[in-house]
Amino acid sequence: MSRPLVAQVNLSALRANLAKARECAADAQLLAVVKADAYGHGIKRVLPALAKADGLALLELDAAVALREQHYARRILLLEGFFSDHELPEIAARRLAVVVHHVQQIEMLEAATLPRPIEVFVKVNTGMNRLGFRPGEVHAIVDRLSQTASVAVLRLLTHLARAEEEDGLREQLEAFEEACQGLPYPRSLANSAGVIRYREVGGDYVRPGIMLYGSSPFPYDTAEMLGLTPVMTLKSAIIAIQDLKPNESVGYGGIYTAARAHRVGVIACGYADGYPRHAPNGTPVLVCGKKVRTAGRVSMDLMTVDLTDAPEATVGSPVVLWGEGLPVDDVAAAASTVGYQLLSAVAPRVPFVTTEVGKVDIEL
Ligand SMILES: *Cc1c(COP(=O)(O)O)cnc(C)c1O
Repeated sequence: MSRPLVAQVNLSALRANLAKARECAADAQLLAVVKADAYGHGIKRVLPALAKADGLALLELDAAVALREQHYARRILLLEGFFSDHELPEIAARRLAVVVHHVQQIEMLEAATLPRPIEVFVKVNTGMNRLGFRPGEVHAIVDRLSQTASVAVLRLLTHLARAEEEDGLREQLEAFEEACQGLPYPRSLANSAGVIRYREVGGDYVRPGIMLYGSSPFPYDTAEMLGLTPVMTLKSAIIAIQDLKPNESVGYGGIYTAARAHRVGVIACGYADGYPRHAPNGTPVLVCGKKVRTAGRVSMDLMTVDLTDAPEATVGSPVVLWGEGLPVDDVAAAASTVGYQLLSAVAPRVPFVTTEVGKVDIEL
C-alpha cells in the first residue's frame, strides 16, 4: 500500500458548478478561469468538464500554449497580458487574447510586427488599484490602441475588489460605466462573486473562477447555500493512533496538551502536501465521516486529531481533509485563510485521481 494521501477531482461537480455559473449569467459569454493550474486541480485534468465554457482565462503563457497544443480552439484570455515583446509572436500565432493594463504593453504592441493582430481587453482600474488604466485615461488609450496595427479588436475589462460585500459594487460599477461611456466595445466585469450578482454587475463576458471549483466567494453564504459542489476532495487515512494521558502533549512545540485521556489519530498529510501549517488546534477534519478537530501542530508530513468524536476510528480509517462532507471554506476559515489558497497550494507530491461521478469513493 502506498501513502494514502490523494486529491480526488470530481468532474461532474465541476460541470454542475459551471452550469450554475451559466444559469446566473445566461446572456454572457463565460470564460472559465483556470489560472494556477485550474486553482490546483490541474488544467489538463479538468478540461473535459469545461467543454461548455465559451473560453478560458489564465495568466501563464506556457499553459495557454499547452492548451492550444491539445487543440483547445475557443477563446483563451491572458489575464495579465504579456510581460515582454518576445511573447507577442507566440501570442498572435496561438490566437490568444490579452489584457492590456499598462502603457508599456501598448508601446510593445505598437513596435511589433505580428503574423496576425491580437484581441485586446483594455483593463480599467476602477478601484482595485493593482492593474489597469485610470478611468480618465481610457478614451485616449482606446483611441491609441484602435490605431495600432497589431490590435485586432477591443474589449473593456475591470476587476472587482469587493464584489462579495453587500455595498462593495456601486463605486466600481459607476467608475467603469463612466470610463466606458460611448465606447461601443463588449465588456467584462464579473469574477465569481460578480457572476452570482450578475443582475447588478452585467457584462458581455464573465470570468468565474473559485465558484467552478465549489468554493464560495462570499464570507457568509456557504458553497452549499449557493448550490455549489466541492470538486476537490483531499483524502487520506489514519496511519497510527496514540493514547494520550492527561497533561501529555502531542507534536512539535507541544501546542496541544490533553486535559483528559483520549485517543489521537495520526494522519498522513502535512504542510509539505499543502495543508496549512498555521491551522490552529481545533481545525475541522473528517474521520470515518465524523467531524473531529486537529490537536497539535501540523508538521511537514503528518497531522494529529483528537479522536474522541470518532470512537470507531482505527489505523486505516478514512480521513477527509476537505471536500465532500467538509467544505474547504470551513477549513480555510479555521486557518484564517481562503479556499483559493488551500486549493491552489496542494503540493506536487500529492497524487491526483479523477472521478466522473460524485460520491464514487476510491479505495485507499
Ligand atoms: C482570478 C481572477 C478571476 C476569477 O476570480 P474568482 O474570484 O476566482 O472567481 C477573474 N478575473 C481576474 C482578472 C482574475 O485574476
